[in-house]
Amino acid sequence: MAGGFTAGIAFPRTADEVAALVGSARRVLPIGAQSSLTGGATPRGELLLATRGLTGVTVLSPAAVRVGAGVPLADLQREIATHRLYYPPVPTFDGAFVGGTIATNAAGAATFKYGSTRRWVEAITVILADGARLTLGRGETTASPDGWFELVYPSGPVVRVPVPTYRMPDVPKLSAGYYARPGMDLLDLFIGSEGTLGIVVEATLRVIPLPRRALVLVTCDSESQALAVTAALRHEAAVSWRGDGPVDVAAIEYIDDRSVRRLPDEVFVRAGLARPRPSAVILLVQLEVAEDEAAAMERLTDVLASCEVAVDPVVAVPGDDRAAARLLELREAVPAAINALIAAAKARVDPHIEKTAGDVIVPFERLGASLALYRETLERQGLDYAIWGHLSDGNLHPNVVPRSLDEMHRGREALLEIARGVIALGGAPLAEHGVGRSALKQQLLRELYGDSGIEEMRAVKRALDPSWKLAPGVIFPTP
Ligand SMILES: Cc1cc2nc3c(=O)[nH]c(=O)nc-3n(C[C@H](O)[C@H](O)[C@H](O)COP(=O)(O)OP(=O)(O)OC[C@H]3O[C@@H](n4cnc5c(N)ncnc54)[C@H](O)[C@@H]3O)c2cc1C
Repeated sequence: MAGGFTAGIAFPRTADEVAALVGSARRVLPIGAQSSLTGGATPRGELLLATRGLTGVTVLSPAAVRVGAGVPLADLQREIATHRLYYPPVPTFDGAFVGGTIATNAAGAATFKYGSTRRWVEAITVILADGARLTLGRGETTASPDGWFELVYPSGPVVRVPVPTYRMPDVPKLSAGYYARPGMDLLDLFIGSEGTLGIVVEATLRVIPLPRRALVLVTCDSESQALAVTAALRHEAAVSWRGDGPVDVAAIEYIDDRSVRRLPDEVFVRAGLARPRPSAVILLVQLEVAEDEAAAMERLTDVLASCEVAVDPVVAVPGDDRAAARLLELREAVPAAINALIAAAKARVDPHIEKTAGDVIVPFERLGASLALYRETLERQGLDYAIWGHLSDGNLHPNVVPRSLDEMHRGREALLEIARGVIALGGAPLAEHGVGRSALKQQLLRELYGDSGIEEMRAVKRALDPSWKLAPGVIFPTP
């Protein structure tokens, strides 16, 4: 989000330095890699607390690591790979910091198999608004049966924090304000709170043995064929996780026909693929394979044949990092192509034109209905658009391609309408990017939980941060 301004920037290197800074500051915005797509990491006059100096990775066991909040996920993966370990819930942008991903409950393409960041956080150390340090381990502090947490501050006072009563939608990834469930863990209140309740300085994360991965690019004739292939592969994955089959799918990414048509020829050449027919859509399947990948590839070929996929898949076998990088490059070329169109409209038509995109999720079985909803709503407004995202999770990003400021405004209206439709389908309009300071996303949060839900979140904020010091205006406006 453009136009940030700050009272200053600090680069603390220890939890004590963070505590001292927070204790004495009036307004603080913690930042990680500032890859937020919601304006959450764009300052509005606060002291910027850059976490990049909070480094350090310690492997505690083959199942857990202790990490500083300022460690980029790419560095974490590189470091633990030397121990043959892997941290699964990585967003597409792996330069994001550990603290930023905890603060937004980030989730990547492989949520279908691994869940979001929340599932992998075992403990955190946070600095609260008054500078007090709180260390929370999973299972150590849970809400009382009548819906409260009681925190005893080192300086004496006891603070009662109410657990919100709204019902969260039942979807695999959600970054929509404060987590709330009866009997919930206090740790979960901080995960996904986008810097508004405390500053994460360190975390203990669960890790797994480093998987062997293959990437398979599948060209489908149509959206309905892509949905059929994805449903079939999700089934194969479930069978595999029970130990009965070789096709262990971790993620299926989707690129719609409008996106495919916008990709330049050289992207297909580099990926080793002929330019698909104009109506074609693309799936990028991430497989985890045992030592002998032949059985997985054989079964995958059978599944594709049973769905009548006519084009041979392009495969990057485990260890062929160059082939994998070329396929990932094709996927990355999609947002790059759309962003370039938006930048051109901004330069030529109106400097106020901005990216206008949704981050919506529905239960997998409602995907067909949701795609029809996205298309129908955007086309009724006469808008140009493209859709891509994490199909195996039911999480897609409908992107408006505004050719004028008016189209951008109509795009926002369309996204609001889509949000209402998605909520009616049992989904959520805020899946993985969070709420931040985006007026549209804060409106979507209101659509999801109503005014009463926002008031319940404000009550949590008031209890933990009565002077509204931390990340003010993030998730909901300041009073
Ligand atoms: C190309 C691209 C692809 C992306 N793909 C995905 C994706 O697949 N999945 C996904 O979930 N997201 C994705 N994102 C969004 C973004 O990467 C995530 O939201 C990420 O978790 C943000 O991490 P960060 O370190 O950049 O945090 P920042 O952007 O710096 O901060 C985000 C929020 O967290 C707060 N915060 C930061 N650090 C801390 C801390 N230590 N303690 C408390 N609060 C803190 C900030 O105040 C802010 O509100 C993508 C972004 C880009 C640019």
